[in-house]
Amino acid sequence: MTNTTQPQTTLAGLKLKSELVDANHVLAHQGVLDAFGHVSVRQPEHADHFLISRSMAPELVNVDDIIVMDLACNVTDGSQARPYLESFIHAEIYRARPDVQAVVHSHARSVIPFGAVNVPLRPVCHMAGFLSKGAPVFDIRHRFGCTDMLVRNASQGKALAATLGRASVALMRGHGFVSTGDSIAQAVFRAIYTEANAAIQASACMLSKQVAYLDVEEGLAADETNSQQIDRAWSLWKRHAAERLR
Ligand code: MN
Repeated sequence: MTNTTQPQTTLAGLKLKSELVDANHVLAHQGVLDAFGHVSVRQPEHADHFLISRSMAPELVNVDDIIVMDLACNVTDGSQARPYLESFIHAEIYRARPDVQAVVHSHARSVIPFGAVNVPLRPVCHMAGFLSKGAPVFDIRHRFGCTDMLVRNASQGKALAATLGRASVALMRGHGFVSTGDSIAQAVFRAIYTEANAAIQASACMLSKQVAYLDVEEGLAADETNSQQIDRAWSLWKRHAAERLR
């Protein structure tokens, strides 16, 4: 009997696992993930399953650490590995957004201020044009009161996905952010440039109260152009991460 949710049984499945491992290493090397945070990809042949590492630091992830989960966050590949506490972030975004194929969750420190103050994260740099679709802030306190700030169950995941709406990125007050994409590389690209834009925007705001942001049309046009260029960045980031890990 074959378990059809085991992606490692096919060449395409192995390739996807390997790409997810690369994403873990790239995000760690780029400073978007440290010991915490995670990245996942929807299983192409089973849209209600996704691949993600077991609970561990992203830089240390290897192909053997990748597990398969369903949208209820059950591990479905027979692995006994412990999943991330916040797997519900991924599951509920995949449930709410059929267009999303990959999700990154990060605690990058440059982004945290924008979840804490009344200044929206907006594109100041064309590489972050996707922020024109908004970067809404999820405040877990609004519906769930005093928590440990983690998205630990399906209803908290659903509330985060509802805040995300149709945007590419949502911030999480006192915690971090999520980025989404139609591929692993696009979700990684958006996570990296969300972090970069936050740092640039904070610098611009220190220089002046009058900051010239990209307008919505500029941002959307830039996002469309950048989406055709992702492989260029992805190849470079993979090389740099591999050099560091060698
Ligand atoms: Mn977290």
